[in-house]
Amino acid sequence: MIERLAVIGVGLIGGSLALALRAAGHVGEVIGCGRSRANLERALTLRVIDRIAEDPAAAARGADLVFVAVPLGAMRAVFQALRGQLAPETVLTDAGSVKGSVVEDVRAVFRAIPSCFLPGHPIAGTEHSGVEAAFPELYHNRRVILTPLPETAPNAIQRVSAMWQACGAEVDFMSVAQHDEVLAATSHLPHMLAFGLVDSLARMRENDEIFRYAAGGFRDFTRIASSNPEMWRDICLANREALSAVLARFSVELADLADSIRRADGERLFEIFSRAKAARDRYV
Ligand code: NAD
Repeated sequence: MIERLAVIGVGLIGGSLALALRAAGHVGEVIGCGRSRANLERALTLRVIDRIAEDPAAAARGADLVFVAVPLGAMRAVFQALRGQLAPETVLTDAGSVKGSVVEDVRAVFRAIPSCFLPGHPIAGTEHSGVEAAFPELYHNRRVILTPLPETAPNAIQRVSAMWQACGAEVDFMSVAQHDEVLAATSHLPHMLAFGLVDSLARMRENDEIFRYAAGGFRDFTRIASSNPEMWRDICLANREALSAVLARFSVELADLADSIRRADGERLFEIFSRAKAARDRYV
């Protein structure tokens, strides 16, 4: 049970956490803080939060858990505002989609990793953003990856795990580096393909005509190209090493596919598609 939860960044992820914990009876009071006053007022009206705090330090005062869910590029400023403001028993965690950059930000701001800090990443989301997009079931049956550091206290691991389990999620543990490599392949690369495909079609002269004939497959594949551009710019910059590596590997695959098509190598195309189908049918 969390008596007082501070949510810094009350958008899709932060708002959904507050709603899920409320629905589970796992939270007392929720204090919200963020960049946009209008969004916070809306969060208050929707009863996602109970009170607005002026800044992260005020939000963290008296909180037993502080959840940071702002875009990656805003994380460092939030940690700066929290420095020296956390009570010894307060647990600090985040939802950033890249873990290496968040850990770097915390280390740069606090000098040493505080024992109360546990980086986290819920593998759940939609292409919508802001508190209006939040809903309590977002984390039901979804995975949350926690990446404890050698400095992280067992109490922080226990409290953050219990929080996510109360939201209906399953908690997995990974190293920071493994998290960033895995997510580069399974999340960041597909987003690049969707953004790149839609942008390249949109820049064609006849794009109205093209999009008119876009059917189910196109919709399914490109839904994530509606995601928040600020958030995705930050993710690319924060995970550029791992993402560049998977993009380079994928470019080779794409060139192989293009070459097989050019050479009319039906056998090779059948082999690639069959392998892909078997993998998707098995794992997804
Ligand atoms: P969002 O845009 O819905 O919400 C972000 C909130 O942060 C907004 O309310 C915004 O006003 C606030 N904010 C922005 N800059 C700020 C600043 N400088 N100081 C204080 N508040 C600020 O975004 P989201 O989808 O909830 O994503 C939040 C975090 O969660 C990001 O780090 C993202 O990488 C991560 N994440 C997103 C998803 C997803 O699918 N959307 C999934 C997992 C993790």
